[in-house]
Amino acid sequence: MSKAQASNVNTSQQPQRLDLRAASGGGIFEYAPAPESIRPEIADKYGLFIGGEFVDPTSGNHFAAINPATEDTLSMVADASAQDVDRAVQAARDALPAWSGLSGKDRGKYLFRIARRMQERARELAVLETLDGGKPIKESRDVDVPLAAAHFFYHAGWADKLRFAFPGRDPQPVGVCGQIIPWNFPLMMLAWKIAPALACGNTVVLKPAETTSLTALRFAHICQEIGLPKGVVNIVTGAGETGKAIVEHNDIDKIAFTGSTAVGKAIARAVAPTRKKLSLELGGKSANIVFEDASLDQAVEGIIEGIYFNQGHVCCAGSRLFVQESVLDRVVDKLTDRISTLRVGDPMDKNTDVGAINSEEQLEAIQRYQAIGTNEGAVKHEGSQSALPEKGYWCKPCFYTGVQPSHTISREEVFGPVLAVMSFRTPEEAISRANNSPYGLAAGVWTDKGSKIFDVAKRLDAGIVWLNSYNKFDPTSPFGGFKESGFGREGGRHGLMAYCK
Ligand code: NDP
Repeated sequence: MSKAQASNVNTSQQPQRLDLRAASGGGIFEYAPAPESIRPEIADKYGLFIGGEFVDPTSGNHFAAINPATEDTLSMVADASAQDVDRAVQAARDALPAWSGLSGKDRGKYLFRIARRMQERARELAVLETLDGGKPIKESRDVDVPLAAAHFFYHAGWADKLRFAFPGRDPQPVGVCGQIIPWNFPLMMLAWKIAPALACGNTVVLKPAETTSLTALRFAHICQEIGLPKGVVNIVTGAGETGKAIVEHNDIDKIAFTGSTAVGKAIARAVAPTRKKLSLELGGKSANIVFEDASLDQAVEGIIEGIYFNQGHVCCAGSRLFVQESVLDRVVDKLTDRISTLRVGDPMDKNTDVGAINSEEQLEAIQRYQAIGTNEGAVKHEGSQSALPEKGYWCKPCFYTGVQPSHTISREEVFGPVLAVMSFRTPEEAISRANNSPYGLAAGVWTDKGSKIFDVAKRLDAGIVWLNSYNKFDPTSPFGGFKESGFGREGGRHGLMAYCK
């Protein structure tokens, strides 16, 4: 009998729960406000970064960059037309011979300079990322920006060693790369795309997501500051139409896309009849599997990290939790306690765990899924005692029990702080339920038994399997999916292959 299947659990047999609210005298432990105090300069209006200069868009149109935590307009960002994309591709094409002709050592020097400058401007980049995207400052500061710099350091090291990456071969750049990135990790996704491309001698035209352009534009300033040759990096801001113009441009040699599976499929169809190379990093519905022999407290931390990190806007989020039936109630109890301590609110406060949802549109999408979850019969458990700010886009972290494999919230990517909890009895059942998904991006396995770890990990259809951990990223480790989660890898030696021929 489990809480996921019935509510009349005999709690007398369960271990005593620590009631955190009672322990703190009825409320949650309160922290004093710890706001990040610096405010980076943000221009009223930004142009497109083409050929090493900021230029006006041909249409003259700009759109608003909104702070999702306050709904304030931060700046106006240029809307690139197909004509602007063409200008950017031409600049990248013109820059290609000189850049690909540089020695690997010299290319590496530029990448090292970018990495160091990102470190020097780390605080400013982190604040900008948080203001523009809504993620907690502690995540931008401790994860996004350091990892973005690490990707440039790592690929700077490869620039003069490509022959060692592919022994017996003479790797050549692919050419001009069109790169389209999403809004969940704007600067980090930019680094995952631009660093390997440049290290391998390619030039790029990159489009950030419409809701998160500001750190890409600040990155353009860094390219100017370190004297990167003009046209090697071009940044065209805009919406889906701008991305489409990149995909459809005839003079682009490779498309690299991270985003939704629906758009990824449309891009695959558009690129199929052309000579373009393609890599796709798409959505996921990753399984996090907890066996009865796992350290449950550690596993609960991993569950929290797996689904509530970055408000759940994570392609590899552990959004399907499978818990062995014998420990399901204990895990659900621990999860209930832990989720109640998460602090939701001002992303600029250094104590905030869950920040603002990236956009009003995404908040509505999450709320739609929550309503479907309840209508289909699952039971919602909402955490966090925090009072939400009046303005901005907010969603309290939650999990659902009583979820069936056929339920929408256990099949589709919600891309928010919403967890579907299910149970299993045997390792075989855990593996078959975890693999029962059109996606195959990531998975987590929690157990004390080394042999079980290796057996289960190698039978999961997932590009990344974390063992007794979750959401660990490193530039040396290839990241990418199976099935409808895409193809191609980013990071590691495998990631270089996408940018060489
Ligand atoms: P999209 O796939 O729509 O956006 C990703 C990027 O592609 C953005 O830069 C977007 O531009 C651009 N784009 C949109 N349409 C086209 C097109 N036809 N051709 C070329 N480029 C295009 O994701 P959304 O931001 O709309 O998010 C929707 C869902 O996608 C989320 O709920 C989530 O499920 C999933 N997602 C998955 C991500 C992942 O990392 N796997 C990341 C982001 C989203 P613009 O943003 O300006 O419209």
